[in-house]
Amino acid sequence: MTDRLIKALAFDGQVRVFVLDAKQTVQEAKERHQTWHTATAALGRSLAATALLAANLKGQERVSVEVIGSGPLGRIVTDGDSQGNVRGFVNNPKVALELNSQGKLDVAGAVGLPGSLVVRKHMGSGEPFAGQVPLVSGELAEDFTYYMAVSEQTPSAIGLSVLVNADESVAAAGGFMLQMMPGADDLLVDLLEARIKELGRFSDLLESQKTLEELLDLLVGPGNAQVLEEIPVSFHCPCDKERFAKGIRSIGKEEIQAMIDEDHGAEVVCHFCGDRFTFSEDELSQLVAEIDQQRTEASEE
Ligand SMILES: [Zn+2]
Repeated sequence: MTDRLIKALAFDGQVRVFVLDAKQTVQEAKERHQTWHTATAALGRSLAATALLAANLKGQERVSVEVIGSGPLGRIVTDGDSQGNVRGFVNNPKVALELNSQGKLDVAGAVGLPGSLVVRKHMGSGEPFAGQVPLVSGELAEDFTYYMAVSEQTPSAIGLSVLVNADESVAAAGGFMLQMMPGADDLLVDLLEARIKELGRFSDLLESQKTLEELLDLLVGPGNAQVLEEIPVSFHCPCDKERFAKGIRSIGKEEIQAMIDEDHGAEVVCHFCGDRFTFSEDELSQLVAEIDQQRTEASEE
């Protein structure tokens, strides 16, 4: 079963709306990284935000996000593409704080201010577009909203939420993003702001198990949304052994020989997905042979 994200327009194209169910994606991140509940919520909200930002991309474009706070989580790093693939990790997955004064998972406490939010958009060849803003709340939805307003000059409303069961499994996860298109009516901005306030906390909506279609109606009013597209969203990391072999080759012959002599092999772990790849002595010797071959080819040129 995969999650889904619905892209829609509302009010004659003046507002863009994305709604996202990310329960399976966040559950997979939780299992891969063995996160404890506050870390699950923080990583999950970042993954949801990344999927929402990536929904604005086309083709092979990608977005990467770093939340660098001063709390116990350390850094949260995520990335995603226009096809709904997201992945990510947090420096310290074993973070479980007391609930905050509202009885909710204390994401702001785990992220910690001061800090910054860095977003890089890889639009193909050339340097990525990079935007950086200070963290304004640490709850993340507010921080991504602030980023959209300041760095991308797009007035937006973003909601992100992850609910965790007593057994640490993910009960619900998701988010939404409303964006005013250029030239949108000022009155519409006021109307939507009032509506979003009225809706209350997004986590309560998520808890009430509404479908994405029902959420759309709640956000912009029944019948006001025109659905454009629906995309599947899932946790996906494109890493494989060949990529890591390339990495090992790049550290050089002497280092690899040391791995063979001292460790009799090597094991590498992908930060993003937690997958482990082992290289036997024979495989490492093969990498050394490949380096020698490359050198011979280079000297013959
Ligand atoms: Zn990976």
